[in-house]
Amino acid sequence: MNQNYKAEPYRIKMVEPIREIPKTKRIKLLKNAGYNPFALKSEDVYIDLLTDSGTGAMSQAQWGALMQGDEAYAGSRSFYRLESVVKHITNYQYFIPAHQGRGAEQVVLPQFVHKKGMSFISNMHFDTTRAHVELAGARAIDCVIDECFDTAKHHPFKGNFNLEKLKRIIEDKGSDNIAGIILTITNNSAGGQPVSMENLEATAKIARSYGIPVIIDGARFSENAYFVKMREEGYQDHSILEIAQEVFAMADVFLMSAKKDGLVNMGGIIAIKDNEQLFKKVQGAIVPMEGFPTYGGMSGRDMEALAVGLQEGLEEDYLRHRIDQVRYLGDQLREAGVPIQYPTGGHAVFVDAKAIAPHIPYDQFPAQSVVNALYIESGVRAVEIGSLLLGRDPDTNENIDTPLQFMRLTIPRRTYTYNHLKVVADGVIKVFNDRKKLKGLTFTYEPQILRHFTAKMQPIK
Ligand SMILES: *Cc1c(COP(=O)(O)O)cnc(C)c1O
Repeated sequence: MNQNYKAEPYRIKMVEPIREIPKTKRIKLLKNAGYNPFALKSEDVYIDLLTDSGTGAMSQAQWGALMQGDEAYAGSRSFYRLESVVKHITNYQYFIPAHQGRGAEQVVLPQFVHKKGMSFISNMHFDTTRAHVELAGARAIDCVIDECFDTAKHHPFKGNFNLEKLKRIIEDKGSDNIAGIILTITNNSAGGQPVSMENLEATAKIARSYGIPVIIDGARFSENAYFVKMREEGYQDHSILEIAQEVFAMADVFLMSAKKDGLVNMGGIIAIKDNEQLFKKVQGAIVPMEGFPTYGGMSGRDMEALAVGLQEGLEEDYLRHRIDQVRYLGDQLREAGVPIQYPTGGHAVFVDAKAIAPHIPYDQFPAQSVVNALYIESGVRAVEIGSLLLGRDPDTNENIDTPLQFMRLTIPRRTYTYNHLKVVADGVIKVFNDRKKLKGLTFTYEPQILRHFTAKMQPIK
């Protein structure tokens, strides 16, 4: 390993065996899965880079904390422990747990939609966030800078809001038709790309000037803070926590899938700065959806593990190694000429499938084709982030085109070694060298909402 990448800041205390099954078997299994790797059994996957959501390893401190879970239905000690950590990190007054990020979204987002024709604006909505915006009867508008769509162009903060466009949208729609501005940090859908402090501040200032609420979708708020420290002028001497707190201070509400930077396998966070009325509404809404407000879908032991994980996720040694692993995989691919979203972001390498397979049109899902070829080549499971994921336009029912047709290689936290990532890189490079053979896909079954999870497909001959 060369000097550019520091070795793991931990040693291994427990192992989980994995195995590679023969290629002939993988070809059959993928066919049976309807050419959708979501339908594969995990035991048929060698290295699983489907997602970084809930797939990480917990620390000895977290496993120790599990034993202290208080499983009381109401007023659990574990709730109060987690609450104190969340309040300390965010400086917000109110905290309610949820079973995961989308649980938080389903109870909070509808509170901002009080009439027809409203929209949320985000740098880029995550898929479940978009789904909950639409289920609440609103529309999701993405407003990211143009550099984000040019994968080969270097920009340190490709998750930034396009501020001119943001103002234009608000003026066009009228500010009272904007339900909220959602700061997605990091910008998952475009490559785990960070948003700069300067841009967050400018965005929040615009929101305030129009009286629009600001919501943080902060599944990876610690990774974003690390990038600010590394890449933005003036933050080198700040701690990760200080940077995170500066961001929290700009917003009204913080929603988090704790399965990411919370370093747990399941959990979600709703934190509200000071709006008591909103807190009461969310408290009322959470009971029938997620559970009583002192557990919100989480068991006591899970709240204990999260209380520890949130703090570990802010440690700089851990973050450096995490971001380095992603960069290592990206560097391996770039050296071989594979086009990726560059620079690499926080949790994954996003391979540009539109550039690899320009012969496959967007509505035949070029990135899904690359994902499938990688599984067959090396038993690695990746995921499509492109037109398959985006679904259909709710107004026209057409497949949504996007210049961003990605295969996401998502790296679970503290789980795989550099050697595993080398196997992944070799597999991707083989697929890349054989790219002319890639074929588009068509549906044999297409669900209406969040279709990518359960769709069945077949290659077009
Ligand atoms: C994962 C994620 C969510 C949804 O969280 P779940 O825990 O998967 O329900 C929302 N927003 C972003 C940015 C995410 O990455």
